[in-house]
Amino acid sequence: MKSYVRVERVDTSSKEEVLDVTNLVEKAINKSGVKEGVAIVFLKHTTAALCINEAERGLMDDILKTFSTLVKENKYKHDEVDRNATSHLRSILILPSLVLPVSGGSLQLGTWQRILMIEFDGPRRRELYVQVIGE
Ligand code: ZN
Repeated sequence: MKSYVRVERVDTSSKEEVLDVTNLVEKAINKSGVKEGVAIVFLKHTTAALCINEAERGLMDDILKTFSTLVKENKYKHDEVDRNATSHLRSILILPSLVLPVSGGSLQLGTWQRILMIEFDGPRRRELYVQVIGE
């Protein structure tokens, strides 16, 4: 059993954006040498999150629009401390981590599936932690 860790730094460029980070995870899998196992992808942050979906530009905008509808700008208690409560609340609607299957040395995703990182409080540098475990 092998375990390989790679931390990728991802610079976001706006307050809110959706980025396709699939290639960074594939790079970690290739470097790990793991053929059969899992890739754990984890964001070490509280105002950004990960999901699997289609990386179509219109849909990526729709994702942000949907989160802004679900958690509207408001007066929240955390804003008295940090002024980014909305960013925290939007990011907790989805998880900060994913467990993905690796087989034949490749990430097993469906045709339209991509790993998307959603920034809710950028621009800033994010750390995407990828751990590949297997044989
Ligand atoms: Zn905060």
